[in-house]
Amino acid sequence: MSLQVQSQVSLKPFNSFGVDVQARLFAEAHSDADVREALAYGLEYKVPVLVIGGGSNLLLTADIDSLVLRMATRGIRVLSDDGSKVVIEAEAGEPWHPFVQHTLAQGLSGLENLSLIPGTVGAAPMQNIGAYGVEIKDVFAGLTALDRQSGELRDFTLQECNFAYRDSLFKQEPGRWVILRVRFALDRAAHLHLEYGPVRQRLTEQGIDHPTATDVSQAICSIRNEKLPDPAVLGNAGSFFKNPLVSAALAARIKGEYPDLVAYAQPDGQMKLAAGWLIERAGWKGFRDADAGVHKLQALVLVNYGSATGLQLLNLAQRIQKDISERFHVDLEMEPNRY
Ligand code: FAD
Ligand code: NAP
Repeated sequence: MSLQVQSQVSLKPFNSFGVDVQARLFAEAHSDADVREALAYGLEYKVPVLVIGGGSNLLLTADIDSLVLRMATRGIRVLSDDGSKVVIEAEAGEPWHPFVQHTLAQGLSGLENLSLIPGTVGAAPMQNIGAYGVEIKDVFAGLTALDRQSGELRDFTLQECNFAYRDSLFKQEPGRWVILRVRFALDRAAHLHLEYGPVRQRLTEQGIDHPTATDVSQAICSIRNEKLPDPAVLGNAGSFFKNPLVSAALAARIKGEYPDLVAYAQPDGQMKLAAGWLIERAGWKGFRDADAGVHKLQALVLVNYGSATGLQLLNLAQRIQKDISERFHVDLEMEPNRY
């Protein structure tokens, strides 16, 4: 028995919103054996097991009547290296941004646009994390997960993960898979993605005409530090809503009324609207009700000024959804995982 199970643990330090709810039981997994032991414990004592990583994509609306298992497994290894492509594997509990920094320090490119995203390696496939024009599916080389239904390990290929915008098989089958380790195919020669948002502009301002992957990472870190609240200072879960995909006809109707609408054409003919623009245009930016608020600099981010409950944050989110639906006829979908 290496698993240490504690009773009645506050989850405040384990969710980036800083919401103070209690877990009936709490443990950390430092090995695959710990994960299996926690699942066996749950079966024996008839307690559901909720697996979490860094807690940066959670909205906790009540005490959690489960064994909350925080993935704390560590380890990074190179699986293959043909001189140009390197396949690298990391354990689920590895913190994401330090892992990205580690790959860059090894001279490997591919993850630089995903710098400074909070959370763990194991949660990254859950919503196919993405930023600045790159998603993990673009460099994904496989993962190993434990099937909680059969108790067996399974290796997943890219095609088997059903990755889509902020979505995956693992999100579609909640609670079935424990992701144990993830593999990425990275390049020794950088193929940089600079055309998204203000990335190239920031590099130009810094006098960098021929950036390295590390330059791109640093530029993205500086942009993110300016725009996004640090959860250690102001509780948040990043973007609270997904960018909605709407028909070209609806986007054109909204643009007729609001010529400054921010919208991007998708390959399938739909338009992706910037949810942050819709919320800001509806007047919510900087709004605050008790300790639940909309960030002053980025309307897509809901914040906890101190003692907001998950239900207060949820209530604010629902008010925003209703208003956006009435004004623009657009449905906003929440991004964080709600428990
Ligand atoms: P958690 O919040 O702990 O868990 C998320 C979900 O995954 C839960 O349903 C949990 O049950 C499940 N889960 C966690 N680990 C495992 C596992 N090993 N096996 C099975 N299930 C698991 N996201 C982006 O996509 N792009 C961004 O640019 C971005 N920026 C952010 C900026 C800020 C300031 C914040 C606070 C969040 C941001 N996010 C972003 C959201 C979040 O950081 C990511 O979704 C991240 O991958 C969540 O990782 P986590 O370890 O914190 O997961
Ligand atoms: P931004 O650069 O102000 O852009 C606003 C929105 O427009 C973004 O949501 C982005 O969509 C979209 N966009 C911008 N340039 C685009 C382009 N060239 N082509 C297609 N779409 C474009 O956004 P931001 O809020 O500062 O965030 C920057 C990046 O980090 C974004 O990719 C965002 O998704 C990511 N991010 C995610 C989270 C999260 O919690 N999920 C939190 C913070 C930042 P996309 O979101 O689809 O990229």
